[in-house]
Amino acid sequence: MLQNGSNLDITWKGTNGNNFWVGRDGKTACAIVDHCMGRARDGSRATLEGTRGWFSNPKSEVSAHFGVAKDGRVWQFVDIQNTAWANGIMEQPDASIPWLAECVSKKINPNKRTISIEHEGDSNDVMPEAQYQATLALHLFLIKTAGIKADRQHIVGHSQITGRQRANCPGPGFPWQWLMRDLAKVRGLSFQDPVTNFTVAEPFASFWHKNGGLAVFGRPISELIRGDKAFPECQALQWFERARFELHAGGVVLLGLVGREAKQIIEGKVN
Ligand SMILES: [Zn+2]
Repeated sequence: MLQNGSNLDITWKGTNGNNFWVGRDGKTACAIVDHCMGRARDGSRATLEGTRGWFSNPKSEVSAHFGVAKDGRVWQFVDIQNTAWANGIMEQPDASIPWLAECVSKKINPNKRTISIEHEGDSNDVMPEAQYQATLALHLFLIKTAGIKADRQHIVGHSQITGRQRANCPGPGFPWQWLMRDLAKVRGLSFQDPVTNFTVAEPFASFWHKNGGLAVFGRPISELIRGDKAFPECQALQWFERARFELHAGGVVLLGLVGREAKQIIEGKVN
């Protein structure tokens, strides 16, 4: 998964003027909410076209800013300056998210703080590559143009707002770990490895991305270690499958001399 997320082609479709509020009641969007379209009311799989029809129907009283098809098409239904009607019902909202906790305490409709993206697919579907690349590019675009922070407090799922009725939106098929890692890769921010689950923070994250990433260094196999007595010259270090990153005085990142160390160990054993 992932490359650069630079190919983004948004087609404006609108909602025939239905199912949104003009403006955001003086508030600004601070988060992206990801959804899956799931199934239409007749039980068939929802499509981008069908979703547009539903959003355009004044009886539905629902909309989202964007929809992403499995083939990678991106349609826009509501201007991001305006409030889509995608996730206004708070049920067991994730109180660890500060902006959402504020929505609860100040009785703010979460739609006024969010940009919503619908994805073709059921909650268990594995997202096709074309759809993944399209939504990655769309997320990047919104991060850059709307100032959304690229972390899991500001890129959330519908289930984190509407925990009961929408417990499976976007569901287990949604590629959170890949998306967050790829957003970090492009932006040079810290990331959590989707396989080992260890986190790589700055300044090691930028060094990892800039100098070859997975192919050169492999995955992180430890957390950041501060003050390791075996490496007194390092302020901090972190192990990767193929390297040891060391933080030296002045914030300089160097690679540990693992080849030399390994050679000594191996030759010591051989002799
Ligand atoms: Zn949803």
